[in-house]
Amino acid sequence: MRAESLHLDSEPSLTINSDQVIAALLPNHYWIKPWVIRVSEGLTQTVADFLLEIEEILGVKPDISFFHITEENTDRYDDFAIYQRRLSIFVDAKQSFAARDRAVLYVAQRAIERSERVCRLCGGELEIKDSADDNDCLLFPFLTEVVQKKMMGYRSKLSVCVSCATSDYLEKKALNLTNASATDVIFAVESIEVDDFNGVDFDDDNDDDDDDDDDDEYYK
Ligand SMILES: [Zn+2]
Repeated sequence: MRAESLHLDSEPSLTINSDQVIAALLPNHYWIKPWVIRVSEGLTQTVADFLLEIEEILGVKPDISFFHITEENTDRYDDFAIYQRRLSIFVDAKQSFAARDRAVLYVAQRAIERSERVCRLCGGELEIKDSADDNDCLLFPFLTEVVQKKMMGYRSKLSVCVSCATSDYLEKKALNLTNASATDVIFAVESIEVDDFNGVDFDDDNDDDDDDDDDDEYYK
């Protein structure tokens, strides 16, 4: 049984601290040990809630023939989708009962929907922000990056983790300032050298207003 919403992105997403997720879940759900759960750290609680629901339906030691949970990108064309991942859940009980299978499918789909509402980095709740809204742009400066990219077909509304997006924005800004300062120093040094050269050149021309021989002398 595959409980996964359809979409076109087949690229595997880069999970973050997947081993720590397993380490956090294993003590309370030891039956997951043989199976793959590869999701980012922020989705730990979402998966933990799903495991509890599975145990309510299939028992505390679920008799399953297959269990596999990964995550996928929700929008690979949007840089801000970095905070959002959608769970892919595959689960099969050894014995199939129609009503029970439907119950498993139901809780799996609910877990997928929950995963789209939390930040995959910190687990915080994602919020909808609109880069076309002046008030939003004023309150959340990271939206200015979206405004710049709108010309390239980016949509104005996005699901974003305000906390992570703000710290990412400030970090990037600090880095740009550092780089800009270094560039300013280089330009300043180059500017001094050019001015010096021009100064000598002009002086030379003014002092010796005669023929080309002096210029040749200067360049030797
Ligand atoms: Zn976050």
